[in-house]
Amino acid sequence: MYEANQIVAETLSMLKRVAEPGITTFELDRLAEELCLKRKARPAFKGYSGFPGSLCVSLNEEVVHGIPSRKCKLKNGDVLSIDFGVEYKGFFGDSAISLPIGRIDQQRQNLLNATDQSLALAIEQVQVGNRIVDISRAVQNHVEPLGYSVVRQFVGHGIGRSLHEGPEIPNFVSDGQSPRLQEGMVLAIEPMVNLGTGKVKVLRDGWTVVTADKKCSAHFEHSVALTADGPLILSSRKEFIS
Ligand code: MG
Ligand code: MG
Repeated sequence: MYEANQIVAETLSMLKRVAEPGITTFELDRLAEELCLKRKARPAFKGYSGFPGSLCVSLNEEVVHGIPSRKCKLKNGDVLSIDFGVEYKGFFGDSAISLPIGRIDQQRQNLLNATDQSLALAIEQVQVGNRIVDISRAVQNHVEPLGYSVVRQFVGHGIGRSLHEGPEIPNFVSDGQSPRLQEGMVLAIEPMVNLGTGKVKVLRDGWTVVTADKKCSAHFEHSVALTADGPLILSSRKEFIS
């Protein structure tokens, strides 16, 4: 699973370097797919329930599941979220980043920073004896006091021989029993955080999820293994941004 996730990480690092004003999300998708196939991995999203791309590319008010398009050219001031998954040797990797295109305003940069930080705090909770709800709480308690909202309609997930496995990992605390974390679990933790309302809707393309108030959204994701020594970020990237 580390190998699968490192192919995802390498691809996201490559995309970060080329995602500049003028390039289309279709070109990003092509570059990702080429690198993935070169590494003998299969892009996991392509064909998933009929999804047409290898990447999910979500711009500005788009939260997740945006479709790569020849018509969509990145422009200065955009916030781009890229989600990528692969299957390699029978195991899956899944990770996402949000990044500024050219220069973005401070308000949106703050949203990106807070969402990334909430993922780091969530990962710290991946400890034997904790429960899924501890992960959820870490995200919610970090971003809500800053005035942001957590998306409730979409959640993180277990990952392994399938892209999406149990348990679900909400980014908010909910009532009821929460599964206990055990050594050997691998969790795809993915805070989706909005500048305005947490409410979202799906566009008529059947995929693209957007914020109900059209304000900006951010999405970061890592696949994290729970080892005897604590959390191990399988999709960690060499370059470190924050
Ligand atoms: Mg993902
Ligand atoms: Mg995921």
